Amino acid sequence: MKNLNIIICFVFSCLVVVSCEQDVKQKTQYDQAVGQAINNFYGDALEFKESYTLLRGLSKDVGQRLSGSEGAKKAVLWTKKIMEDYGFDSVYLQPVMVPHWERDKTRQEAYFISSNGKKINLSVLAAGGSVSTPLVGLLANVVEVKSLEEVDRLGEGGVKGRVVFYNKAFNPRFINQGNSYGATGFQRRSGAIKAAEYGAVASVFRSLSSSDDDVPHTGAMSYKGAVDSIPHAGLGVVSAKKLSAELKINKGLKLYLNFGGKWYPDALSHNVVGELKGSEFPNEIITVGGHLDSWDVGEGAHDDGAGCVHAIGALRLFQKQNIKPKRTIRAVMFMNEENGLKGGVQYAKNAKDYQETHIAAIESDASAYVPRGFGFSGSDEQLEKLQDWLKYFDKNTISYFSKGGGGADIGPLHRTLGTPMFGLNVDGQKYFEMHHTEKDVFELVNPRELELGTASLASLIFLIDKYGL
Ligand SMILES: [Zn+2]
Repeated sequence: MKNLNIIICFVFSCLVVVSCEQDVKQKTQYDQAVGQAINNFYGDALEFKESYTLLRGLSKDVGQRLSGSEGAKKAVLWTKKIMEDYGFDSVYLQPVMVPHWERDKTRQEAYFISSNGKKINLSVLAAGGSVSTPLVGLLANVVEVKSLEEVDRLGEGGVKGRVVFYNKAFNPRFINQGNSYGATGFQRRSGAIKAAEYGAVASVFRSLSSSDDDVPHTGAMSYKGAVDSIPHAGLGVVSAKKLSAELKINKGLKLYLNFGGKWYPDALSHNVVGELKGSEFPNEIITVGGHLDSWDVGEGAHDDGAGCVHAIGALRLFQKQNIKPKRTIRAVMFMNEENGLKGGVQYAKNAKDYQETHIAAIESDASAYVPRGFGFSGSDEQLEKLQDWLKYFDKNTISYFSKGGGGADIGPLHRTLGTPMFGLNVDGQKYFEMHHTEKDVFELVNPRELELGTASLASLIFLIDKYGL
């Protein structure tokens, strides 16, 4: 009898364990009301296209908005007014000091004289933050490299008094061109530091581009200190190929460079914040944002006007369906992602100082192309839970939640408070054709693709608000 009791107990406890495991693995039922709300987000976004209208305003009425510029000031006031006019529960500015650099747009010249005596003009664009060449320009021999290590190997003997020409191309075999961007980014970011170390007079780099055109790309660069500051600029891909081809037959060629940029004292600027207050847990915050600053070429339509109107548009979709979130949803237009990240850092600092509770942070800074999925940085258990939400998404929009990802602006919040973060991933095949160039204009944005991004953000926020993480 005793043995039988033991056996019964054992069997029972096994059943309990099995049933608990089943509970964990069991997927939740499809909730019709949730499915309907998400359907409506997509429907309203695609029908009314409010994000697209906003993006036209931000691109055309405001335009370029590099940190510290008049355009950035205008962008702050413009987005604040948009969110006030929408009647968000609270709209305010968060002050932040930002770096202020301006390009000398009157000087943008590069050429060499070919072995048969022809003047070959090259398309050139100073990297963001570059110092100027002398007003009359500079003329120097060129040494071509594909890596920073190569500069080390050349040493002073091979570099001093010359222009270092970084010529590492995107790898076309990569499906994700973001990986190519990662593998070539050193040229722009660290090229000047390394070249200056061995006495180069300037450095140029092949644009970080997946395109075979001749439009030069800009973007952030850095210096070690004032001593190491040499002029640094991007060449269009066609120009880089021309220069490389000529160097093969004419090692003594001299490159003429004339471009400029100037640093000013840090400027007062702002993150722009708009909120829908939570009805049950107003102190629990879900942040959704993009960055308001852009480079000083093009209109910053994809990068990152799209992210800003995705965020505002997502809140707007809640309003349109008259959905009152349980938690506070906060749209944030971060300032200074491109050349300093001061807005994101300030946001995290304030969140910590004010002891705010952040449930999740979502960033859209991958452009206005068709959304594909979300990258997620949080726990494995949370990631497992997210997979269950995929049933609410049309597979032509969000088809995965993958490990890793987020955004530059919400990274500081993630690191400071441990807030789980999401980054919207899109079909990015065309992104690096126009990233940080004059081609990044409103006309390049497809309204339906943009709106799918807005609805995807609204849907994710809705699910987080309803089920938690
Ligand atoms: Zn961006």
